[in-house]
Amino acid sequence: MTDDVYTESYRACRLCPNLCGVDRLNGEMGLCGEGGQLRIAFAGIHRGEEPCISVTDRGFSGSGTIFFTGCTLGCRDCQNVQISRDHLGAEVSVEEFSRICLELQHRGAANINLVTGTQFIPSIAAGLRMAKAGGLILPVIWNTSSFETVEALGLIDDLIDIYLADIKSLDAQLNRDSCGHPSYGPVAVQVIEYMAERHQLRWDDQVLLSGVIVRHLVLPGYLEQTAEVLRWFSEHTAAAAVLSLMVQYIPMDRERWIDAVVTESCYEQLLELLDEVGIEDGFIQELGDEEPWIPDFSARNPFPDSFCDPVWHWSCSWIDR
Ligand code: SF4
Repeated sequence: MTDDVYTESYRACRLCPNLCGVDRLNGEMGLCGEGGQLRIAFAGIHRGEEPCISVTDRGFSGSGTIFFTGCTLGCRDCQNVQISRDHLGAEVSVEEFSRICLELQHRGAANINLVTGTQFIPSIAAGLRMAKAGGLILPVIWNTSSFETVEALGLIDDLIDIYLADIKSLDAQLNRDSCGHPSYGPVAVQVIEYMAERHQLRWDDQVLLSGVIVRHLVLPGYLEQTAEVLRWFSEHTAAAAVLSLMVQYIPMDRERWIDAVVTESCYEQLLELLDEVGIEDGFIQELGDEEPWIPDFSARNPFPDSFCDPVWHWSCSWIDR
């Protein structure tokens, strides 16, 4: 496919299940709030991702994250609200995007980790092709809420090595409350099954080279909904994907619709659940006793320095080492 065919996908945009049908090349915007010009908030080498995507054969180096502006969902507890809903970010050309990928590689990243880029799939695909033609050899990770169409994924699938895909909940009421989309569950299941069919797990020792990581954030008070997700994973996806369970929920919603955190007793129940459904492999976040932090994308390094080396920021472009 030529890049023209890719960018034509911005006309009558149907990249995600919102199916807005707007002409983003002509100044119209859909629910993601983004037009037809690629926009990026931040790029840097991040050391907080799963270990299997943070190491290389040279040792622990961190994942080369690129955070895109806008989002196809509207989660109440989004930790990246400054970029997803407040739209911090700067326009970049496809060429600039490919240079950012190559610079992350140059600075030692283990991979290129594309965070929430569904609304820009056509531009990202064109930029990845350019970066690969220019010498990009790192594995590429599609880090997604899973709220996208398989047709849109088909535009980028051949450029992706690893999918890092959320599954929030399969419960329609909880999905309505948490992200405004009761249909999120069936969409995410279809998307993850599509990914798992095309990308088999491939490892080099502890390093994941290809495949699917399914991420689930445990919501305090909704353990039964987590059990439903774990049963689905165990029955349908466990052979083809790795599970990553996150437990450090941080209330972000002003109304604090969930005003709690995962407790030690909840964590114990979670471990029992994993046992019950027969999931032995994968990752589970530890319960932290430190004060949780959230990224601040108005700062040149939105993350603690120990977590991330900034490379590019929307306010100033390149950041020297
Ligand atoms: S990517 Fe944006 S404009 Fe396109 S369908 Fe999704 S929300 Fe609508």
